[in-house]
Amino acid sequence: MKTAVLTDAGKIEVREVEVPALKPTEVLVKVKNCGICTLEQRLYSGEVKIRYPIVPGHEVSGEIIKVGNEVISKLKTGTPVAVDLVMRCGECYYCRNGQSNMCENRFSDELHVLGGFSEYIAVRASQVYPFSGDISFREASFTEPVACCVRSLKRINVSLAEDLLVIGAGTMGLLHLQVARVMGARVIVSDPDAKRLEKALELGAVAAINPEKQDVAREVARLTDGKGANAAVVTSAATTALSGVFESLCKTGRISIYTSYCDDRQLSIDANNLHRNEIMVIGTEGRTEQDFQQALRLLSFGFIDVKPLISRIITYDEIEEGIRDAMSGDTYRVILEHGE
Ligand SMILES: [Zn+2]
Ligand SMILES: [Zn+2]
Repeated sequence: MKTAVLTDAGKIEVREVEVPALKPTEVLVKVKNCGICTLEQRLYSGEVKIRYPIVPGHEVSGEIIKVGNEVISKLKTGTPVAVDLVMRCGECYYCRNGQSNMCENRFSDELHVLGGFSEYIAVRASQVYPFSGDISFREASFTEPVACCVRSLKRINVSLAEDLLVIGAGTMGLLHLQVARVMGARVIVSDPDAKRLEKALELGAVAAINPEKQDVAREVARLTDGKGANAAVVTSAATTALSGVFESLCKTGRISIYTSYCDDRQLSIDANNLHRNEIMVIGTEGRTEQDFQQALRLLSFGFIDVKPLISRIITYDEIEEGIRDAMSGDTYRVILEHGE
């Protein structure tokens, strides 16, 4: 089978390897699609290091083609599934506390991480989430990023009829927008790119603000009867993205720091603002099994439309070009597709 191995920063090669052997508690999945997420881009650029060599890819959809003989559930071959490629040990404090996204062992060498850039993957039965034929494999490959948004919005308790400010209108900003609308929020999006703002409006944002041309806080105040947003999500690591966020919140406002930062990680925060206005700043990382299942259900209900976020479908031959394309500001998701 084909697999794409990152051997060092900037070096990815397609290799021919054996189909992985199946443990009795695992299922073998024929991968159909795998999205190229920010993590893959940063592994490729060298900004994020796990280890080399590594097979990237964690936004996977596929079909079960073999079920291990010790799998207890009724998973069958031919079942379409979304795959959660972050393994969770199930044994550490966080796993047992309903916070498996913080599993202490999720990057340990014994647990395979990522691996979606492969034609076949063997995973624990608990890592696959079946879905009905209502959505395509391409759409199902968005389950993981949608699940991260579900988690992020739960962290700031987005609720009915609130105003949410989403900073950044890339793929993650636009998915946050859609999930937040399902949760009953009215969403304002801020991004310096006019095309992205247009897309945000098409996908249901009530207003789109260009922070290079407009004063974000003033615009948000105007749109919310002077109150400010109840909550904000920061999906862009650009240093300018944070400017105006604190001023855009109403009293008791909550901020989710969704993006990861590479170099500039210091937030400048007015502690008295947090104190006097009961402002809450919270981080979010990954997703739990519940978030993953909810994301897949939202997609299959048709509540979230990811089709406008598919910019390009690539094959193995185009993988390097595809990653670079994903890194450019002009694309949303670039998705690897495995042929028959
Ligand atoms: Zn992802
Ligand atoms: Zn664990």
